Amino acid sequence: MERETNKTRILKLLTDAQGSWVGGSAVMAVGGSRFGGRIEELREAGYKIEGKRNERYALWDYRLEMIQEKPLPPALWKCTGGGCHYQVAMVIPTIADNYGTGYCPEHGKSTFRKEAA
Ligand SMILES: [Zn+2]
Repeated sequence: MERETNKTRILKLLTDAQGSWVGGSAVMAVGGSRFGGRIEELREAGYKIEGKRNERYALWDYRLEMIQEKPLPPALWKCTGGGCHYQVAMVIPTIADNYGTGYCPEHGKSTFRKEAA
């Protein structure tokens, strides 16, 4: 399990650095002397870890390419009032997944239905 623990520690170190370069000595401190192998395993698991030679030290520097989470497209909520076409980007609170209470200039407090974007 030592191996898995070291891998987890390396990943945490690189994640905490938020995409900045981390010196190899710091990686070795948490990942053990075989940290290079652990980094290979993390790469195989799908983590994009970049390495570059540090000119001043024999060790390499590493950084984790942070995956930018795509923001969800804004939901479109439509007033359910008869013949009403009023739409808003968000209603609070949500009654169910597709229904929520919002304010319509025409109907006042009204039930909004989520439309497919
Ligand atoms: Zn309305």
